[in-house]
Amino acid sequence: MPFSSREELERACFQNLLSSSEERVFFKGMDGHFLMVSNGFAAALGRGLTAAELIGKTDFDLFSDVHAAEALADEQHVILTGEPIVGKIELETFQDLPDAWVSSTKLPLRDDRGEIFGTFGISRDVTEQIEAQHAVEYQALHDPLTGLMNRVALMDRLAQSLIALERRPGQIALLFIDVDGFKSVNDTLGHKAGDQVLCEVGRRLDAIARRTDTVARFGGDEFVMLCTRLRDGDDLRLIGDRIIRSLSKPLRDGSEVDVTASVGAVSTSNPTLAPEELLQQADFAMYAAKRAGRNRLEIYDAQLHGLVASSRGLAAELRRALDEHQLYVLYQPLFRLHDQAPIGVEALVRWQHPERGIVLPNEFIPVAEQHGTIGEIDTYVLDEACRQLAAWTAEGAWKDQTMSVNVSGQQLRDPKLVARVAATLARHQIAPSRLCVEITETALIGELNDANRVIDSLTALGVQVALDDFGTGYSTLTHLQQLRATILKIDRSFVAQIGGRPRDREIVGAVTAMAHALGMTVVAEGIETDAELSELTAVNCDQGQGYLFGKPQTPAEIARMFAAA
Ligand code: C2E
Ligand code: MG
Ligand code: MG
Repeated sequence: MPFSSREELERACFQNLLSSSEERVFFKGMDGHFLMVSNGFAAALGRGLTAAELIGKTDFDLFSDVHAAEALADEQHVILTGEPIVGKIELETFQDLPDAWVSSTKLPLRDDRGEIFGTFGISRDVTEQIEAQHAVEYQALHDPLTGLMNRVALMDRLAQSLIALERRPGQIALLFIDVDGFKSVNDTLGHKAGDQVLCEVGRRLDAIARRTDTVARFGGDEFVMLCTRLRDGDDLRLIGDRIIRSLSKPLRDGSEVDVTASVGAVSTSNPTLAPEELLQQADFAMYAAKRAGRNRLEIYDAQLHGLVASSRGLAAELRRALDEHQLYVLYQPLFRLHDQAPIGVEALVRWQHPERGIVLPNEFIPVAEQHGTIGEIDTYVLDEACRQLAAWTAEGAWKDQTMSVNVSGQQLRDPKLVARVAATLARHQIAPSRLCVEITETALIGELNDANRVIDSLTALGVQVALDDFGTGYSTLTHLQQLRATILKIDRSFVAQIGGRPRDREIVGAVTAMAHALGMTVVAEGIETDAELSELTAVNCDQGQGYLFGKPQTPAEIARMFAAA
């Protein structure tokens, strides 16, 4: 050994750490001046100063005064208490350079006798992760087209406003706005014109809203306005009329587009009302406005209440639908992106209603979740989908193609779920690895530990588990890290943006990389254009589905498609 003492060896190791590693390591005296820093620290600063040149300087020479003062306060805390600060996420700001997010750990520096003579720390740049997280959070609460808040954000505000009524009695109002004749705008002038109309409607509503009000887009041509400080009953009619007048003005120069709006309004001073109930009342008033001839305002009252009661009938109808086999399943093909080979299908439920025609799941699944029929629906779809997969396999056309089935997040609370999945697989003699359970409505996943228990049991069974609709509602990075799913499905709202905005491409790229790091497979939903497909391929997304490859279709159509592939 070329070293005469242990001390010399340790010093040499230490010197190597400081000079060769990219870690940002720093040692500071009691008053915050640098005693020693790693080359990695000097390099990361990007000021062309060497580690040696930094000795004797303080944070005030390098960062903004605000950041330097905060850092000094943290270090004084470490010195006074002897307690470390671990993994603190903070924003580094500079006089002249762009901000950066860092994670820093600071510990006391002690001499041989244990006396503190300064601090030392390690920091890491986490800007990319934090920005991706912020973007995902923003996306989860906003409508990508209009930039307004989305349903989740508005319902949260509504809940808060109701709670606030307890402390400070008053009136709040909810207005449900549906654009009349929007479908014909889309059909005759195209989607681009339709989008422009929706954006303009959003802008006009925003202009009417007061500072304390919230405007949200609920999807399609539905908007909701929440007014938190109503002066008296007349106010409601005034706001509603203003909305109708504003929206009926020609929407584009040259007035090619004329739309009007039907508005349903409700107000309350009752803090115990459930947010969903108030929303349903506003929704019903809006329907009443449509029925009464559109382009008008209806205010919810006791008479309308009768109509609400009849909506409860929908739940009963659903139960009958199950008994009378009005539900059926369509299948949407799933593709591997790099070679565009079809690798499986997702089962999507439909309701052939005797009077209303085909009803889509977005309309009846929430009703089923509310009224307790969701379990029966999911059980039916699981069984039917497995039966179909077994049939395709028996015909000899399919070997290892997979079947994805949606299960409401609510069902994770059902103690029999895992046993039911196991029994269904056994009944149809399907290898567990060919089934993927997609968990939807993650907002309903209450206790993460419980959810993980179910996910782990399914995984132990050999079944794959996917986190559906990632990037919407509450399904955000927190869930990604905490739920042990094997597949991540990125919601259509992300995919729809990816061609247009470079930033969204970066987010999808970062989310994909993060999911890959967690060992997950990434599936993109709602791929409609070649441009979206190539962007997704470029960021290494694994699989995809969407109208570009194929819409949800009947078993016979699927069999033909896969046979031709
Ligand atoms: P999901 O699981 O995210 O399914 C994807 C939805 O996006 C489907 O809507 C599909 O038709 C639609 N889609 C696929 N590709 C495209 C595209 O390129 N463009 C557009 N615009 N849309 C596309 P669908 O069938 O109406 O289902 C809606 C949601 O209802 C599903 O979203 C799922 O959350 C839920 N759902 C469907 N079947 C079931 C079920 O059996 N049980 C439960 N609990 N939920 C279900
Ligand atoms: Mg799904
Ligand atoms: Mg989805």
